[in-house]
Amino acid sequence: MSDEQEHAALLKALQKAVLRERKDVMALSESPRARALREFESTNCPVEGCGAAKARGQSFCSRCYFSLPKEMRDSIYKRFGSGYEEAHEDARDFLEQERRAKS
Ligand SMILES: [Zn+2]
Repeated sequence: MSDEQEHAALLKALQKAVLRERKDVMALSESPRARALREFESTNCPVEGCGAAKARGQSFCSRCYFSLPKEMRDSIYKRFGSGYEEAHEDARDFLEQERRAKS
């Protein structure tokens, strides 16, 4: 590899790393409300390690949804700004912990 090629490869790797970092920072700085809304609009289950298809406007894929305890299932029907964000986050945490415990 010539110096020039090496330099170009290095630069590319660096740019990739910067982009990755920026993504992480953006995810960290996202408000619970923005995150809940983004996940609500998404067509993939937001549970880490799941990612199954879900309908837009649903919180989770049906499999995750039905593995929630009943009171959590009921609580994600709260409205945005009236407890939905917190309920959604609690439910996601619960599902991710369940997943981790199984694997
Ligand atoms: Zn899921």
